[in-house]
Amino acid sequence: MEFKPYRIVEIVNEAQDVRTFKILPVKGELPSYQPGHFFLLQLPDGTGKTTHRPYSAASHPDQKELWFCVKNKGFFPSLLWKLNVGDLIGLDGPYGLFLLSKDDKKRVFIGGGVGISALRSMILQTIKENMPCWLFHSAHTKEGLVYFDEMQKLSAQHQNFVFFPSISGEEAPPGWQGLKGRISLQSLLDKLGTLEGMSFYLCGSKEMVGALASSLASAGVPKERIKKDEWG
Ligand SMILES: Cc1cc2nc3c(=O)[nH]c(=O)nc-3n(C[C@H](O)[C@H](O)[C@H](O)COP(=O)(O)OP(=O)(O)OC[C@H]3O[C@@H](n4cnc5c(N)ncnc54)[C@H](O)[C@@H]3O)c2cc1C
Repeated sequence: MEFKPYRIVEIVNEAQDVRTFKILPVKGELPSYQPGHFFLLQLPDGTGKTTHRPYSAASHPDQKELWFCVKNKGFFPSLLWKLNVGDLIGLDGPYGLFLLSKDDKKRVFIGGGVGISALRSMILQTIKENMPCWLFHSAHTKEGLVYFDEMQKLSAQHQNFVFFPSISGEEAPPGWQGLKGRISLQSLLDKLGTLEGMSFYLCGSKEMVGALASSLASAGVPKERIKKDEWG
């Protein structure tokens, strides 16, 4: 592993416990990466040592900064939450095999909570390719639907991209027109009509991704068309 110093250039509060950290290299260019790749972020752990964790790039490679969308749950996020714009962070990568396939004809993205981060980058790429795609994004609360406004705007601008947000944990706010409850095989079939010819990209907790991947496989979706990124 070879960590290089990066500077935080912007921190966006997406929700009470979710932030997007935008970073740039102290020297040189951004590394070349693909939508779906993750990087290792490194920080001092407070005991004189350093520690690192994997985070998916939420940015698209065409963007001028690297973005990471992080939920404030766990040790490493507690370190990140102490940082300010201008502070330094180590970065190594890219890594990973959760990447778009060139053989796809139609893509369905399914994310839970901050699982949207890797999917955001992939959706921007799929829109760029003018390929039909759908996003099913579920979160416990409306606030947890990170990048909601951006996804709504993209869906209004691009006929080929359809956005299905879902609130799984609490009463939906008045006037809510999205889905309610967890994303299930039934909700996918209700909205898509068919699973034929579609490639699925799942990102989020092991529980959600594992359950949906099994349902898709038992509904006849070939294994090579179900790609998963599970975060524990
Ligand atoms: C490929 C991939 C991509 C990911 N992308 C994202 C993303 O985009 N956004 C996101 O929010 N999350 C992402 N995650 C999850 C992320 O890597 C972290 O696991 C998450 O932020 C929780 O932080 P944590 O691991 O420190 O949590 P914790 O549950 O606190 O810690 C996990 C492990 O760290 C060790 N640990 C705990 N405390 C300490 C300590 N004091 N000192 C040293 N070690 C300690 C323990 O061994 C523990 O098992 C991704 C994970 C993977 C695998």
